[in-house]
Amino acid sequence: MRITIVYDNEVKKPGLIADHGFSCLIEAPDTPKILFDTGAKGSILLHNMKELKIDPGSIGVVVISHNHGDHFGGLQAITEANQDAELYLPPSFGGISAKKVTKIKEPVEIRHGIFTTGEVGGMEQSLAIKTDKGLVVITGCAHPGVGNILDATARFGKAYGIIGGLHEFHDFDRLNPLSLICPCHCTQYKSEIKRLFPDRCLDCGAGLIIEL
Ligand SMILES: [Zn+2]
Ligand SMILES: [Zn+2]
Repeated sequence: MRITIVYDNEVKKPGLIADHGFSCLIEAPDTPKILFDTGAKGSILLHNMKELKIDPGSIGVVVISHNHGDHFGGLQAITEANQDAELYLPPSFGGISAKKVTKIKEPVEIRHGIFTTGEVGGMEQSLAIKTDKGLVVITGCAHPGVGNILDATARFGKAYGIIGGLHEFHDFDRLNPLSLICPCHCTQYKSEIKRLFPDRCLDCGAGLIIEL
């Protein structure tokens, strides 16, 4: 399985554009391609996807973590380029037309081995992806708190890693059991986390590809 960072505050590959926001592509066996969040601007999202040779038409599922512009801003550009993608959106989300839209409130398995936490803290969903090593948790901004998100994924299995925006999270002990930590986007204590977990931390940025 492979995760590609498509949109982030930083870039890791020449030619891509950095911008405040987050999006990543999840490619897992026997599952359609999943785009998790869409960044802030459709033009930047499509540019980065083109540079990374990701065809918007090849995406089967789009998941939006929460109702903030830096995560859903590019959604319209994707639905215009791809009428067939299924959307998994926060309950409060409106005004978007697609072939199939599912509003997510409760935890559920959306595809084989791909789980959503449902809305944690009444505002944000994260994904948990089953791998041979354990669950890889994907967060948007982690507004409800990384601890609460990890607790919400525990029902699906043991967490192996976390990738995404960790916001102002600083209860660093919660990261101890994890083998892979990739703080992205809005993570306020990025340098602190890198300093504490140098061997397990990945430098996030658009263009980063994580193979598991
Ligand atoms: Zn946010
Ligand atoms: Zn954000």
